[in-house]
Amino acid sequence: MRCVFLGPPGVGKGTQAELMAGRYGITKISTGDMFRDAITTKSEIGLRAKAFMDAGHLVPDSVVIGLVEERLSRGDLGQGFVLDGFPRTVPQAEALEEILARKGQSLDAVVLFQAPEEEIIRRISGRLYCPICQKLYHKTSSPPPTGPDGEPQCACGGKLVQRKDDRPETVRERLKVYWKETAPLADYYRAKGLLITVDATGSVEKVAQQLRDQLFLGRAHDHSQVERGDR
Ligand code: AMP
Repeated sequence: MRCVFLGPPGVGKGTQAELMAGRYGITKISTGDMFRDAITTKSEIGLRAKAFMDAGHLVPDSVVIGLVEERLSRGDLGQGFVLDGFPRTVPQAEALEEILARKGQSLDAVVLFQAPEEEIIRRISGRLYCPICQKLYHKTSSPPPTGPDGEPQCACGGKLVQRKDDRPETVRERLKVYWKETAPLADYYRAKGLLITVDATGSVEKVAQQLRDQLFLGRAHDHSQVERGDR
């Protein structure tokens, strides 16, 4: 299975990508996580990406595309991959198609996660992030374990923080960028018969079930039915 998860920041793509990776042996590739790692290790890419990320803007296409191309060239993708947060622009989508075509591959499905904006803002404002293992929690819907000091703590033992770009003013900018740059990808992939839409407002498990039904009951390969979620 080779798929792309699309949707606004905070809609739950990352959580669903992680669940799917754990359950089905598919590799999750998150460009956001890759950039955060690169910032932590102070690599050149991290240094280039940081200012864009902190401002809620997109990292330039050339930087992201190079990073994804290198990642997809590694032979450790298991049963396939789920791209979380890439592509985010039409040129990135075109580049992905070319990268895969060079390997004789193509995408099986593109999943668009949808939720009302107030729900997205509510989710992001309760989000807690582990800078060590990158895991995301939510204060109420996916609460983290409690550490020995009685404070919330990651399962890996890491101290949880709010991501800098999850602050309200940056979230507003990220949503603006999403609607301008990334939302048009829904039409792009719809025209290719690849788009599946998933209502992301329910619980993590409910959304996972909807996703599983649509992706694994053969519908993702049957392009006449991939938009079942729209009906
Ligand atoms: P995410 O964790 O997917 O929300 O990504 C966090 C930030 O990383 C984004 O707000 C962008 O600044 C940057 N980023 C991640 N993926 C991409 C991408 N495909 N294109 C451009 N910037 C990206």
